[in-house]
Amino acid sequence: MTVSFPVKINIHFSAQSRDQWVKKLKEEIKNNNNIMIKYHPKFWADGSYQCCRQTEKLAPGCEKYNLFESSIRKVLPPAPETKKRRPPPPIPPEEEDNSEEIVVAMYDFQATEAHDLRLERGQEYIILEKNDVHWWRARDKYGWYCRNMNRSKAELLLRSEDKEGGFMVRDSSQPGMYTVSLYTKFGGEGSSGFRHYHIKETTTSPKKYYLAEKHAFGSIPEIIEYHRHNAAGLVTRLRYPVSAKEKKAPTTAGFSYEKWEINPSELTFMRELGSGLFGVVRLGKWRAQYKVAIKAIREGAMCEEDFIEEAKVMMKLTHPKLVQLYGVCTQQKPIYIVTEFMERGCLLNFLRQRQGHFNRDVLLSMCQDVCEGMEYLERNSFIHRDLAARNCLVNEAGVVKVSDFGMARYVLDDQYTSSSGAKFPVKWCPPEVFNYSRFSSKSDVWSFGVLMWEVFTEGRMPFEKNTNYEVVTMVTRGHRLYRPKLASKYVYEVMLRCWQEKPEGRPSFEDLLRTIDELVECEETFGR
Ligand code: ADP
Repeated sequence: MTVSFPVKINIHFSAQSRDQWVKKLKEEIKNNNNIMIKYHPKFWADGSYQCCRQTEKLAPGCEKYNLFESSIRKVLPPAPETKKRRPPPPIPPEEEDNSEEIVVAMYDFQATEAHDLRLERGQEYIILEKNDVHWWRARDKYGWYCRNMNRSKAELLLRSEDKEGGFMVRDSSQPGMYTVSLYTKFGGEGSSGFRHYHIKETTTSPKKYYLAEKHAFGSIPEIIEYHRHNAAGLVTRLRYPVSAKEKKAPTTAGFSYEKWEINPSELTFMRELGSGLFGVVRLGKWRAQYKVAIKAIREGAMCEEDFIEEAKVMMKLTHPKLVQLYGVCTQQKPIYIVTEFMERGCLLNFLRQRQGHFNRDVLLSMCQDVCEGMEYLERNSFIHRDLAARNCLVNEAGVVKVSDFGMARYVLDDQYTSSSGAKFPVKWCPPEVFNYSRFSSKSDVWSFGVLMWEVFTEGRMPFEKNTNYEVVTMVTRGHRLYRPKLASKYVYEVMLRCWQEKPEGRPSFEDLLRTIDELVECEETFGR
C-alpha cells in the first residue's frame, strides 16, 4: 500500500545500520542531564512554532518525549477512536531490505481516507516520497493492503491499472473479514472481470486462513505469497499488487496555520487543466514540490473583495470529500486561487468519457462520496448553491470530491446569477430557488438529486430537450426527471425524495447519507 501519512518528527535509516545506531545513541545520551525531555512536535515557520505558537526560536519544547523508549520511533498523533475491527491474522517476519529508508511508528494512527496509511505502533514503514512537512508518502511492508476500500472503488482502481492479475486485500463489508479483489483481463466469456474472494478461516486450532481450502496458512501474507505463484482455484494468480497512490499535497487546511495568502513566486505553472466561468485553471507546483491546481481569475469575472474575505472561512472547511482550498494570491492581478489537484478532472467529463464502463456500485459510490462532502457542508451551515456533476472533481483513486462550494455568490456575470439568465442552472434548482432565490441546504439536496441522476445516466444533460423556461413550467407542474436505466428503484426513490416540492419535505444530507450507506452495503456481494 503506498499512501500518505502524517509526519511530526522524522528519523530515517537504512535498515542495516538502524539498530546499531540507536543502541549507540542511547548509550551516549543515557546519563546526560542536558538532554531535553521536552521538544516541539511541529516546525518553526513564519516566526513561531506551529505547535505552541511560541515566537522565541529557542523557546523550550512544549511536549514531553520519552527518549528512552525501547527503540527510536516516529512521533505521531494519538489514534482517534474508531470502530473496533478484529486485528488481522499474524504476519510473518519480514526480510530486511537494505536499500530502503525505513521509519518506525511511535503511536498508532487510524487513517480516515482510503489513501491514508494506518500506522501500527512499533511497525516499520518504507518512505517513498517526502512530499510535505506534515505528510509523507509511505508504504507498509506488503503494498497490497487497502483499508477503507469498498468493492466498487477497488474495481475502479483495479480497472484503471488494467494489469492482468492486479489485486488488493481490503476490509470486507462484513466487519472483521478481509477480501481479496482480483482483476483479470481474460476472465471467462472473453471479457475482463473482477473477482472478490473472502479470506476464510478453518475451524481447527490454531486457526488457519485460506482462499482455496486445500491451501491454508497461518497468516494473510503467507496466503498472498502462495497465490502469487499458484492460482490454485482463483481465476488467475495474484500477479500485481495495486493500491491507492497519492502524489499530491495532502488535504490539510492550507499550507500553514491561518495562512491564506500564498506567495506567487513559490508557484510554478504547468499544463492547462481546463477553464470555467472564472478563468483558466492550470496544474502547478508549490515550492517546486507539491502538485496543486491554480485558477487565475479573469478580470471582471469575480467580485474579488468579497471572495477574499470569504476565502478565510472556506479554507477552514476541510473534509476528505471536499476539494481543499489551500490559499489565494491576492497581491497581484490576476488573483490566483490555489486548490487541491484532482488528477481525473471534472466528474461530468469523467462520466461522459467512460460511458458504458461503470457498474452500478461504482456509480452509487460516487454519489456516496458527494453526499459525504455535502453532509459536512450542511453540518457547517454552508450552502453550496451550484451543486452539479460539473462542479465535482475526481482524483487518481477515483474518489469524487465536491468543488466550487459557495463560489456562485462571487460570479459577476448576470446571465449566471439571475434566475432568468441563460447560464442560470435552472435544471439543478428547486422551485423556491428559480422563483424566489431562496437557497438553503435543502435546495442543495434538490441539486444533489439531479447530480445523482447525472451520475446514473453517465453524464446526460437533465431535461435534455427542454429550454430553461420549459423546465420551470414542467417542474412547477410536478414533472420530474425519469428513472435512469442504471438506477435501481431504490436509487430512484432517493432521487425522488430530493425532488419533493416543499424544502421541508426533502431529507437532510445526514438522512441521505444513511440511506446511501445502507444501499451500498446491500449491493456488496462477494464471489461469483
Ligand atoms: P470555474 O469555477 O471558473 O467555472 P472550474 O472550477 O469549473 O472553473 O474549472 C474548470 C475546469 O478546470 C474543470 O472542468 C476541470 O476540468 C479543471 N479543474 C478545475 N479545478 C481542478 C482541480 N482542482 N484539479 C484538476 N482539474 C481542475
